[in-house]
Amino acid sequence: AYLRRPIVAGNWKLNPPTRPDAIALLRLLAANFVNHRATTTDDASAPEVVIFPPLPYLSDAVRILEGSGIQIGAQNAGIHEKGAYTGEVSPSMLLSSGCSYVLLGHSERRSLFGETNERINAAVRRCLDQPAGLKVMLCVGETLEEYEDGRMEEVIDEQIRGCLDGVDATALLRDDRVVVAYEPVWAIGTGLSATPLQAQVAHVAVRNSLSRVLVGASAEDVERVRVLYGGSVSPETAYGVGSMADVDGALVGGASLNADSFARIYDGA
Ligand code: PEP
Repeated sequence: AYLRRPIVAGNWKLNPPTRPDAIALLRLLAANFVNHRATTTDDASAPEVVIFPPLPYLSDAVRILEGSGIQIGAQNAGIHEKGAYTGEVSPSMLLSSGCSYVLLGHSERRSLFGETNERINAAVRRCLDQPAGLKVMLCVGETLEEYEDGRMEEVIDEQIRGCLDGVDATALLRDDRVVVAYEPVWAIGTGLSATPLQAQVAHVAVRNSLSRVLVGASAEDVERVRVLYGGSVSPETAYGVGSMADVDGALVGGASLNADSFARIYDGA
Protein backbone atom coordinates (compact mmCIF):
# COMPACT_ATOMS: atom_id res chain seq x y z
CA ALA A 1 0.00 0.00 0.00
CA TYR A 2 1.11 3.56 -0.65
CA LEU A 3 0.79 5.83 2.27
CA ARG A 4 -1.08 9.04 1.57
CA ARG A 5 -0.88 11.77 4.13
CA PRO A 6 -4.42 12.93 4.92
CA ILE A 7 -5.47 16.57 4.70
CA VAL A 8 -8.14 18.39 6.64
CA ALA A 9 -8.96 21.65 4.90
CA GLY A 10 -11.35 24.46 5.82
CA ASN A 11 -12.99 26.64 3.19
CA TRP A 12 -14.24 29.80 4.90
CA LYS A 13 -16.00 31.06 1.73
CA LEU A 14 -17.21 34.66 2.25
CA ASN A 15 -16.92 34.51 6.06
CA PRO A 16 -16.60 35.93 8.65
CA PRO A 17 -17.88 39.37 7.68
CA THR A 18 -15.33 41.49 9.54
CA ARG A 19 -11.61 41.37 10.26
CA PRO A 20 -11.96 41.30 14.07
CA ASP A 21 -14.15 38.20 13.72
CA ALA A 22 -11.54 36.61 11.45
CA ILE A 23 -8.74 37.38 13.89
CA ALA A 24 -10.72 35.83 16.74
CA LEU A 25 -11.29 32.65 14.71
CA LEU A 26 -7.63 32.47 13.69
CA ARG A 27 -6.55 32.77 17.33
CA LEU A 28 -8.88 29.96 18.37
CA LEU A 29 -7.60 27.78 15.53
CA ALA A 30 -3.97 28.45 16.43
CA ALA A 31 -4.65 27.57 20.08
CA ASN A 32 -6.49 24.36 19.17
CA PHE A 33 -3.92 23.11 16.73
CA VAL A 34 -0.84 23.98 18.71
CA ASN A 35 -2.30 21.54 21.23
CA HIS A 36 -2.57 18.88 18.54
CA ARG A 37 1.06 19.60 17.59
CA ALA A 38 1.30 16.66 15.22
CA THR A 39 0.69 18.91 12.24
CA THR A 40 4.11 20.48 12.59
CA THR A 41 5.95 17.19 12.67
CA ASP A 42 7.03 15.00 9.80
CA ASP A 43 4.73 12.28 11.05
CA ALA A 44 3.23 11.14 7.76
CA SER A 45 0.16 9.76 9.45
CA ALA A 46 -0.83 13.10 11.00
CA PRO A 47 -3.13 15.03 8.69
CA GLU A 48 -1.98 18.25 7.10
CA VAL A 49 -4.25 21.15 8.02
CA VAL A 50 -5.06 23.91 5.53
CA ILE A 51 -7.45 26.83 5.82
CA PHE A 52 -8.76 28.97 2.98
CA PRO A 53 -9.71 32.38 4.39
CA PRO A 54 -10.86 35.33 2.27
CA LEU A 55 -7.91 37.27 0.79
CA PRO A 56 -8.17 40.37 3.04
CA TYR A 57 -7.43 38.12 6.03
CA LEU A 58 -4.41 36.44 4.46
CA SER A 59 -1.71 38.43 6.24
CA ASP A 60 -3.50 38.03 9.58
CA ALA A 61 -3.64 34.29 8.95
CA VAL A 62 0.08 34.15 8.14
CA ARG A 63 0.96 36.08 11.29
CA ILE A 64 -1.40 34.36 13.72
CA LEU A 65 -0.90 30.79 12.44
CA GLU A 66 2.88 30.99 12.35
CA GLY A 67 4.29 27.96 14.16
CA SER A 68 0.86 26.27 14.41
CA GLY A 69 1.54 23.91 11.53
CA ILE A 70 -1.64 25.10 9.82
CA GLN A 71 -1.10 25.95 6.16
CA ILE A 72 -2.91 28.72 4.35
CA GLY A 73 -4.56 28.72 0.97
CA ALA A 74 -6.53 31.05 -1.30
CA GLN A 75 -10.06 30.27 -2.50
CA ASN A 76 -9.23 31.01 -6.13
CA ALA A 77 -6.53 32.45 -8.39
CA GLY A 78 -6.49 34.39 -11.61
CA ILE A 79 -4.99 33.08 -14.82
CA HIS A 80 -2.62 35.99 -15.51
CA GLU A 81 0.80 36.58 -14.03
CA LYS A 82 0.72 40.40 -13.91
CA GLY A 83 -0.40 43.46 -15.82
CA ALA A 84 -3.61 45.28 -16.73
CA TYR A 85 -6.15 42.90 -15.15
CA THR A 86 -7.96 45.01 -12.57
CA GLY A 87 -9.37 43.02 -9.68
CA GLU A 88 -7.36 39.87 -10.36
CA VAL A 89 -4.93 38.02 -8.09
CA SER A 90 -2.11 35.91 -9.49
CA PRO A 91 -0.67 32.64 -8.20
CA SER A 92 2.75 34.27 -7.68
CA MET A 93 1.15 36.94 -5.47
CA LEU A 94 -0.49 34.22 -3.42
CA LEU A 95 2.65 32.10 -3.09
CA SER A 96 4.79 35.07 -2.10
CA SER A 97 2.15 36.19 0.43
CA GLY A 98 2.25 32.93 2.35
CA CYS A 99 -0.17 30.62 0.54
CA SER A 100 0.73 26.95 0.21
CA TYR A 101 -2.47 25.97 -1.60
CA VAL A 102 -4.95 27.39 -4.08
CA LEU A 103 -8.49 26.05 -4.25
CA LEU A 104 -9.63 25.85 -7.87
CA GLY A 105 -12.89 24.85 -9.49
CA HIS A 106 -15.12 25.08 -6.42
CA SER A 107 -18.71 24.39 -7.42
CA GLU A 108 -19.74 27.88 -6.27
CA ARG A 109 -17.19 29.35 -8.69
CA ARG A 110 -18.58 27.14 -11.43
CA SER A 111 -22.29 27.71 -10.79
CA LEU A 112 -22.37 31.32 -9.53
CA PHE A 113 -19.46 32.85 -11.41
CA GLY A 114 -19.53 30.92 -14.65
CA GLU A 115 -16.12 29.30 -14.36
CA THR A 116 -15.56 26.62 -16.97
CA ASN A 117 -13.19 23.67 -17.02
CA GLU A 118 -11.18 25.66 -19.56
CA ARG A 119 -10.74 28.63 -17.25
CA ILE A 120 -9.95 26.36 -14.31
CA ASN A 121 -7.38 24.56 -16.47
CA ALA A 122 -5.64 27.86 -17.22
CA ALA A 123 -5.46 28.59 -13.48
CA VAL A 124 -4.18 25.08 -12.69
CA ARG A 125 -1.40 25.51 -15.23
CA ARG A 126 -0.50 28.96 -13.94
CA CYS A 127 -0.28 27.60 -10.39
CA LEU A 128 1.86 24.65 -11.47
CA ASP A 129 4.20 27.05 -13.26
CA GLN A 130 5.05 28.44 -9.84
CA PRO A 131 7.78 26.96 -7.65
CA ALA A 132 6.85 23.77 -5.81
CA GLY A 133 5.66 25.67 -2.72
CA LEU A 134 2.26 26.24 -4.32
CA LYS A 135 -0.15 23.33 -4.57
CA VAL A 136 -3.55 23.07 -6.22
CA MET A 137 -6.67 21.68 -4.56
CA LEU A 138 -8.93 20.95 -7.50
CA CYS A 139 -12.66 20.55 -6.79
CA VAL A 140 -14.88 18.29 -8.86
CA GLY A 141 -18.36 16.90 -8.33
CA GLU A 142 -21.71 16.28 -9.95
CA THR A 143 -25.08 17.97 -9.37
CA LEU A 144 -28.08 16.14 -7.92
CA GLU A 145 -29.61 15.82 -11.36
CA GLU A 146 -26.43 14.33 -12.78
CA TYR A 147 -26.18 11.97 -9.81
CA GLU A 148 -29.77 10.80 -10.26
CA ASP A 149 -29.15 10.29 -13.97
CA GLY A 150 -26.27 7.96 -13.10
CA ARG A 151 -23.73 10.36 -14.61
CA MET A 152 -21.44 10.83 -11.60
CA GLU A 153 -18.45 9.05 -13.14
CA GLU A 154 -18.89 10.74 -16.48
CA VAL A 155 -19.06 14.24 -14.94
CA ILE A 156 -16.04 13.60 -12.72
CA ASP A 157 -14.08 12.37 -15.72
CA GLU A 158 -15.09 15.35 -17.86
CA GLN A 159 -14.08 17.81 -15.12
CA ILE A 160 -10.76 16.13 -14.36
CA ARG A 161 -9.95 15.78 -18.04
CA GLY A 162 -10.87 19.40 -18.74
CA CYS A 163 -9.15 20.90 -15.72
CA LEU A 164 -5.91 18.90 -16.08
CA ASP A 165 -5.75 19.05 -19.87
CA GLY A 166 -2.21 19.53 -21.14
CA VAL A 167 -0.72 19.41 -17.67
CA ASP A 168 2.59 17.59 -17.48
CA ALA A 169 1.91 14.49 -15.37
CA THR A 170 5.40 14.40 -13.90
CA ALA A 171 5.17 18.08 -12.93
CA LEU A 172 1.82 17.42 -11.31
CA LEU A 173 2.89 14.37 -9.37
CA ARG A 174 6.23 15.74 -8.36
CA ASP A 175 6.01 17.07 -4.80
CA ASP A 176 2.30 16.14 -4.67
CA ARG A 177 1.38 19.38 -6.45
CA VAL A 178 -2.28 18.48 -6.98
CA VAL A 179 -4.91 17.32 -4.52
CA VAL A 180 -8.42 16.53 -5.75
CA ALA A 181 -11.49 17.35 -3.65
CA TYR A 182 -14.57 15.37 -4.59
CA GLU A 183 -17.50 17.57 -3.63
CA PRO A 184 -20.90 16.43 -4.86
CA VAL A 185 -22.90 19.64 -5.42
CA TRP A 186 -25.92 18.06 -3.75
CA ALA A 187 -23.96 17.68 -0.52
CA ILE A 188 -22.44 21.15 -0.29
CA GLY A 189 -24.08 23.27 2.38
CA THR A 190 -27.15 21.02 2.43
CA GLY A 191 -26.46 19.06 5.62
CA LEU A 192 -26.79 15.94 3.46
CA SER A 193 -23.33 14.39 3.39
CA ALA A 194 -22.56 11.58 0.98
CA THR A 195 -22.49 8.23 2.77
CA PRO A 196 -19.06 6.66 3.29
CA LEU A 197 -19.85 4.17 0.51
CA GLN A 198 -21.02 6.86 -1.93
CA ALA A 199 -17.81 8.76 -1.26
CA GLN A 200 -15.65 5.67 -1.70
CA VAL A 201 -17.26 4.83 -5.06
CA ALA A 202 -16.76 8.40 -6.29
CA HIS A 203 -13.17 8.52 -5.09
CA VAL A 204 -12.37 5.37 -7.03
CA ALA A 205 -13.90 7.10 -10.06
CA VAL A 206 -11.63 10.10 -9.44
CA ARG A 207 -8.57 7.86 -9.24
CA ASN A 208 -9.59 5.97 -12.39
CA SER A 209 -10.01 9.24 -14.20
CA LEU A 210 -6.63 10.49 -12.99
CA SER A 211 -4.93 7.38 -14.30
CA ARG A 212 -6.54 7.89 -17.73
CA VAL A 213 -5.77 11.62 -17.87
CA LEU A 214 -2.24 11.60 -16.47
CA VAL A 215 -0.64 9.97 -19.46
CA GLY A 216 2.80 8.64 -18.71
CA ALA A 217 2.31 8.52 -14.95
CA SER A 218 2.87 5.22 -13.22
CA ALA A 219 0.07 3.55 -11.29
CA GLU A 220 2.11 4.15 -8.13
CA ASP A 221 2.26 7.88 -8.82
CA VAL A 222 -1.49 8.10 -9.35
CA GLU A 223 -2.00 6.16 -6.12
CA ARG A 224 -0.14 8.92 -4.30
CA VAL A 225 -2.58 11.71 -5.24
CA ARG A 226 -4.71 12.69 -2.25
CA VAL A 227 -8.47 12.73 -2.86
CA LEU A 228 -10.49 14.60 -0.22
CA TYR A 229 -14.21 14.42 0.38
CA GLY A 230 -16.25 17.62 0.78
CA GLY A 231 -19.94 18.26 1.33
CA SER A 232 -21.56 18.85 4.74
CA VAL A 233 -18.70 17.24 6.64
CA SER A 234 -19.33 17.60 10.38
CA PRO A 235 -17.68 16.18 13.51
CA GLU A 236 -20.41 13.52 13.40
CA THR A 237 -19.77 12.38 9.81
CA ALA A 238 -16.00 12.92 9.48
CA TYR A 239 -14.89 9.63 10.94
CA GLY A 240 -17.17 7.44 8.83
CA VAL A 241 -16.27 9.03 5.51
CA GLY A 242 -12.62 9.39 6.48
CA SER A 243 -12.28 5.69 7.22
CA MET A 244 -12.91 4.68 3.59
CA ALA A 245 -9.86 3.38 1.73
CA ASP A 246 -9.76 6.06 -0.97
CA VAL A 247 -10.83 9.04 1.16
CA ASP A 248 -7.72 10.95 2.18
CA GLY A 249 -9.30 13.65 4.32
CA ALA A 250 -11.93 16.33 4.11
CA LEU A 251 -12.62 19.74 2.63
CA VAL A 252 -14.91 21.39 5.16
CA GLY A 253 -17.07 24.44 4.52
CA GLY A 254 -19.55 25.55 7.18
CA ALA A 255 -18.10 23.51 10.04
CA SER A 256 -14.64 25.03 9.51
CA LEU A 257 -15.97 28.36 10.84
CA ASN A 258 -16.16 26.86 14.30
CA ALA A 259 -12.67 26.17 15.66
CA ASP A 260 -13.88 23.38 17.94
CA SER A 261 -15.86 21.60 15.22
CA PHE A 262 -12.89 21.86 12.90
CA ALA A 263 -10.58 20.37 15.54
CA ARG A 264 -13.03 17.54 16.15
CA ILE A 265 -13.14 16.84 12.42
CA TYR A 266 -9.36 16.73 12.48
CA ASP A 267 -9.49 14.23 15.33
CA GLY A 268 -11.83 12.05 13.28
CA ALA A 269 -9.67 12.13 10.16
C1 PEP B 1 -17.33 23.53 0.56
O1 PEP B 1 -17.73 24.65 0.35
O2 PEP B 1 -16.27 23.17 0.03
C2 PEP B 1 -18.11 22.64 1.41
C3 PEP B 1 -17.85 21.37 1.42
O3 PEP B 1 -19.12 23.22 2.18
P1 PEP B 1 -19.97 22.52 3.36
O4 PEP B 1 -19.01 21.74 4.22
O5 PEP B 1 -20.55 23.68 4.12
O6 PEP B 1 -20.97 21.64 2.73
